[in-house]
Order: sequence, then C-alpha cells, then structure tokens
Amino acid sequence: MTNLLDRNVVVLGGIGVGKSTAIQRFLGNEFTDRYQPTVKNTYNKKVAVGKVEYNLSIIDTAGQDETSLLDSSYVGAADVYVIAFSVTFRKSFEIAQVIRDKILDMSGTETVAMVLVGNKSDLSNERQISKSEAEKVAKSFACPYIETSAKENLNIDQVFVNSVKIANGARAGG
Ligand code: GDP
Ligand code: MG
Repeated sequence: MTNLLDRNVVVLGGIGVGKSTAIQRFLGNEFTDRYQPTVKNTYNKKVAVGKVEYNLSIIDTAGQDETSLLDSSYVGAADVYVIAFSVTFRKSFEIAQVIRDKILDMSGTETVAMVLVGNKSDLSNERQISKSEAEKVAKSFACPYIETSAKENLNIDQVFVNSVKIANGARAGG
C-alpha cells in the first residue's frame, strides 16, 4: 500500500440545498430528513481515482447567503470547492455565484478550483434552473457542472471524483 494523497474538499452553498444529505450519501448513509442545518463537520473517506487512492477530507459547512462572510479558514484549507445549489430554487443558484466571487476576492487568485453542483434533480416539477443555464455558468467558470439527487443517490460519487481531478489540476497549475 502506497501513501494516500490528501485532498481537502470544502462544500459550500445556500442553506437547505442538500449539502449535508449529499455528503452523507457519499459516506454510504441512508437518506434522512434530519441533518442539523447549523453544524460544521469534517468527514474522511478514501476514494480511488484512476489507480491512485486519495484520502478526502470533506468539510460540510453550515451554508451561506449573499451576506455571509466566508470563513477564511475554508479558503486557506481547500484544495477544491464543491459549490452546491438546488435546481428548485433560483436564489440558491445566485448564491453559488456570489460564493465563487467571494472566494476570488479572498484568495486573490483569478480562478477557483471548484465543481458546481445542482442538487434535487428528482424534483423535476419544481425545477427553476435548467441544465443548460447551469452549464453555461459552469463554462464561464471553467469548472464541471454535475446534477445530483442526494435523495435518489444520483451522481453523488461523480461530484467527489471530479473534485479530486480538479484539485489535482489546480496543484499541477493547470
Ligand atoms: P444543507 O443545508 O445544504 O446541508 O441541506 P440538507 O442536506 O440539510 O437538506 C435540506 C433538505 O432538503 C432536507 O429536508 C433534505 O432531506 C432535502 N434534500 C436534500 N437533498 C435532496 C434531493 O436531492 N432531493 C430532494 N427531493 N430533497 C433533498
Ligand atoms: Mg447541512
């Protein structure tokens, strides 16, 4: 067994978009309706990407709104951000974009290593953000866009596998 490579993933996004539910799904837990909205937690999980095994440290945050100050300890610690919104709530899509702007301001860099995630894809009747609209924004951010349902456990693993790839790209300076 070779040494595991550490990667720090910080999960940001509006309150109630499904950050905690998605992380719990990734950790292999069942869907419940009971995650504490205000809690910040760190989780670890090993994940293989290609032939390399990584030790992911995943920080679940309490959630942000337009006026929240981002905790500078997140910005310092992250190799990559997962910025999540709910496809059923336009405001959360706007908040996701504001969060990226705040990271840019705080980090003083020109790019943010991130994956944009549109969760609650199972609620098709309540959708306010189309896939193509979100893809357009992701393209302008030069980041992947992944649609998930934490409830149905759809595409959750892809979010974290992609986040490792993006983190590796950022470390390589690409
Ligand atoms: P957080 O504040 O971003 O951590 O959001 P939570 O993970 O606590 O989820 C907020 C609410 O949305 C809870 O009632 C979840 O059960 C629900 N939820 C989370 N993900 C999904 C999803 O993919 N589909 C549906 N329909 N509900 C979800
Ligand atoms: Mg939460």
